[in-house]
Amino acid sequence: MDYPNRFDVIVIGGGHAGTEAALAAARMGCQTLLLTHNIETLGQMSCNPAIGGIGKSHLVKEIDALGGAMGLATDQAGIQFRVLNARKGPAVRATRAQADRVRYKASIRGLLENQPNLTLFQQGVDDLIVDGDTVRGAVTQTGIRFLGETVVLCTGTFLGGIIHIGLDTHTGGRAGDPPANALAQRLRALPFRVDRLKTGTPPRIDAKSVDFSVLEEQPGDAPSPLMSYMGSHAMHPRQVSCHIAHTNAHTHEIIFANLDRSPMYSGVIEGVGPRYCPSIEDKVHRFADKASHQVFIEPEGLETNELYPNGISTSLPFDVQLEVVRSIRGLENAHITRPGYAIEYDFFDPRDLRHSLETRFIHNLFFAGQINGTTGYEEAGAQGLLAGVNAALRVRGEASWCPRRDEAYLGVLVDDLISMGTQEPYRMFTSRAEYRLLLREDNADLRLTETGRSLGLVDDARWAAFSAKREAIVVEQARLKATWIQPGSSEAGQLAAKLPKPLNREYNLLELLKRPELNYADLVTLKGQLNGEDVTDERVAEQVQIQAKYQGYIERQQGEIDKLKRHEATPLPADLDYTRVEGLSNEIRDKLNAARPETLAQAGRISGVTPAAVSLLLIYLKKRR
Ligand code: FAD
Repeated sequence: MDYPNRFDVIVIGGGHAGTEAALAAARMGCQTLLLTHNIETLGQMSCNPAIGGIGKSHLVKEIDALGGAMGLATDQAGIQFRVLNARKGPAVRATRAQADRVRYKASIRGLLENQPNLTLFQQGVDDLIVDGDTVRGAVTQTGIRFLGETVVLCTGTFLGGIIHIGLDTHTGGRAGDPPANALAQRLRALPFRVDRLKTGTPPRIDAKSVDFSVLEEQPGDAPSPLMSYMGSHAMHPRQVSCHIAHTNAHTHEIIFANLDRSPMYSGVIEGVGPRYCPSIEDKVHRFADKASHQVFIEPEGLETNELYPNGISTSLPFDVQLEVVRSIRGLENAHITRPGYAIEYDFFDPRDLRHSLETRFIHNLFFAGQINGTTGYEEAGAQGLLAGVNAALRVRGEASWCPRRDEAYLGVLVDDLISMGTQEPYRMFTSRAEYRLLLREDNADLRLTETGRSLGLVDDARWAAFSAKREAIVVEQARLKATWIQPGSSEAGQLAAKLPKPLNREYNLLELLKRPELNYADLVTLKGQLNGEDVTDERVAEQVQIQAKYQGYIERQQGEIDKLKRHEATPLPADLDYTRVEGLSNEIRDKLNAARPETLAQAGRISGVTPAAVSLLLIYLKKRR
């Protein structure tokens, strides 16, 4: 049957990409349908119940700055929060939260159910309705046809999913969920390049069977940092500790002795796994000289005894998993509640997408999340939001939007994927961003919320909070700049102990804030305060301090961007034959012919395409005109 209502945007898959896509399109006023296998698993964390980390929290804050769900759900569900790299510069500082997986799902589901313009429907999708080269809707496994103007596909690890535990294999989208095989076959018949990747998860352990007295305790930070710009400490549930255990020589012996029973080492798994989240068998094999690996024992929630032993993801047979776990000090009597496993799945070459995440071959069809070769909830959520935005913009008949690499990690993520593709599950790192001093997690709102507001993603409450913060920063900077400290004054005396030499001239507070020895807290109450009040908003204080201390570096980076921008927009004709560009090596010609970058800047970011090659392209384009 044809479902009676027609939708603007149909999102398939209620994981991290699909939920952000559906929420974004609905926030932008589109009649949106989220079709998913199971409403109970909306927002389910397939693996580690943790959000954020280096490079990843940057994405979460960007999703949040654009009105998305992940940051708020994390603040409502986080049971341990920490700032990573706290002693390093602000560009690489990151927030990580251990989440209660039940609370996280409930929070996401609550946001979805209460979102105007959004309809949920539970059923697997087996087919897409494609008319010529344009998608028109989706067909569920019982034959219900949903018609829509745009479709966003966010099917995660479910396409052609095969689960491995030792040499046993069975089909599945993740443990306990069916794969999406009919849809996988349908997509393989369309002209996309498809390949296989794999990922894995550790066994889960019953906390009652663990001796915590011999493990190192790792408490969270106090006060607990916030993930959302709209978050508050009061939202955070009870906070708990994680613990640290270690593998040992005996653990490694067990693994070595059983490598022939590992699907990875016996050649059963074809897909490439995540380099930065390797299985324990991979770590022991690749770093054979390391005597021990850390295992973070992380709670899965406040109302469950299950623990997630982060660091021993494995697809070894169950009997070996048990031996491995029980070889670890503190886990000698551990009971495994769920075996670890690896999963192989289809992904589509992201070079077949545009920056809007629309596919190049089928109009109005967008791909987001793990289906594009990424790994991680944050990478999926960010892509989902972008695809949802661009599907909504298509419905409105407006041009697509994608932030540039100097505006957002989201821009870096999409640009990397589209320009270079990926041969292994792609995860975000701060090192992937050449302008990371500008793309800090603390300023994602200052970079993106205004754009989000103009797109229709940001509601009045967030806009009001953001506007007040932005204004407070400017006012406080002006006050600091206008407040002078005289040498020999009582204020200068208060600072003397912190400075190598007493002040020898008049300084304003903003100048003093740039000095490495002084922090905002040392200066804020020195001579009056913002509007005569205490500056209690820690986020305003943080911005004032970071902007002052890093101003020189930030300006230099901005200068580089401005230089690049002069050429960034230079378009590369779609029919350009790179073999005809003189001076390019054959390797670079091949890469450019394969990647078909849309602009000169994109060409320059393809690995192996040197600045000299970009200059040759520019000369060629000028001659061609
Ligand atoms: P998913 O979260 O997989 O969601 C897909 C959704 O689509 C599901 O709700 C599913 O039911 C639905 N769906 C699929 N097909 C259909 C269909 N035909 N019709 C209707 N609904 C459909 N990431 C890391 O960063 N580190 C790790 O160590 C890690 N380990 C992992 C281990 C395992 C075993 C798995 C399964 C994943 C792991 N991940 C890991 C990846 C992480 O879970 C994903 O990156 C993230 O969940 C991707 O989000 P997504 O929205 O793209 O897809």
